[in-house]
Amino acid sequence: MEREKIIEEMNEILTTYCEGCLVKSTLRKDYNKVHAHQFCIQTCTVGEKLKLVGKKLVANKK
Ligand code: SF4
Repeated sequence: MEREKIIEEMNEILTTYCEGCLVKSTLRKDYNKVHAHQFCIQTCTVGEKLKLVGKKLVANKK
């Protein structure tokens, strides 16, 4: 049950901020997919939040 809540939280973040993200699509176009992904996980505060939620998911695995 807790895992479902965490996954829901993650989906909400992705839907709210990441779907159609102009920053990511611009970085993909101007550089490449890897550069855009690195920006997401290293620089963006939304990516930081996703990492935290992902850690909660790992901590709650059965
Ligand atoms: S993590 Fe940040 S930069 Fe990457 S897609 Fe989501 S909102 Fe956009």
